[in-house]
Amino acid sequence: MSIYVLGHTNPDSDSVVGAISLAYLKKQLGEDCIATRQGEISPETKFILNKFGADVPELKTSYAGEEVYIVDFSDLAQAPKDIADATILGIYDHHKLGDLTTAAPLECWIRPIGSSNSVIKEAYDYYDVKIPKNIAGMMMCAILSDTVIFKSPTCTKLDTKIVKELAQIAEIQEYKALGMEMFIVKSAVAGATPRELTTRDYKEFDMGNAKLGVGQLEVVDLSVFDEVKNDLFKDMRKLKDESGLHSVLLLLTDIMKEGSQLLVVSDDESKIESAFSAKLENSQVWLDGVLSRKKQVIPFLQPQF
Ligand code: MG
Ligand code: MG
Ligand code: MG
Repeated sequence: MSIYVLGHTNPDSDSVVGAISLAYLKKQLGEDCIATRQGEISPETKFILNKFGADVPELKTSYAGEEVYIVDFSDLAQAPKDIADATILGIYDHHKLGDLTTAAPLECWIRPIGSSNSVIKEAYDYYDVKIPKNIAGMMMCAILSDTVIFKSPTCTKLDTKIVKELAQIAEIQEYKALGMEMFIVKSAVAGATPRELTTRDYKEFDMGNAKLGVGQLEVVDLSVFDEVKNDLFKDMRKLKDESGLHSVLLLLTDIMKEGSQLLVVSDDESKIESAFSAKLENSQVWLDGVLSRKKQVIPFLQPQF
């Protein structure tokens, strides 16, 4: 029976590439693993898969009765609906420990570093498995994406070292330039619907009795949002009503200026204001230096609930 590898809902490049890189590693170790994804891939992920000639992993939303490896999350809110009926064999992640639980012992690789693909690279080294050139290139791109080309506070020395090693295997010298090319692809918002934008990199979190949705769009210049910001707000309100959320937050992150414009739709804006010690004006505020949802946003929201 096949084992499925999956990343979080609204998969980002780390989740999709992580499913591919972990499935390959496990196959070399004798497990029949298949890379899957829980949703549509982003333009950035498409760019990476095209660049290195990889197939898009199979779309799969139901895992009942299956054995699975989980990559890039451990929160129930980001899991398939029927995950409780699957057997989780292992988790490879770099987020806060979530609320997934298992009935049997599992393999757990969770580290506070820049990307799940960095964790997976450590596993390749641990098992002494050679990384194919194209997989190394994709893993490198996934790490550059998650660490915002090393600018994110989540980036560690280990991530930088791993990117250099992967670049060597992939035979890519100008890896920072490739990272920039990737972020320019990521910055394209033209032609996307408001819903595609609000949910492109969107996660829901259970905090106390409240559920919050937090999206992020990382671009090289915030002016791309000038024309669409009102539509984004409108869609955030819709998203909030549809899912009965307490708040929907959207981080418009400028990777060059290294900060985020935070857009807020909330039942109680004062909770968001105290989380960031900031005053909202027209339901938005510039948060200087904020690049990371997992390290600079979620930990500050949680105590408010
Ligand atoms: Mg991710
Ligand atoms: Mg990640
Ligand atoms: Mg990210």
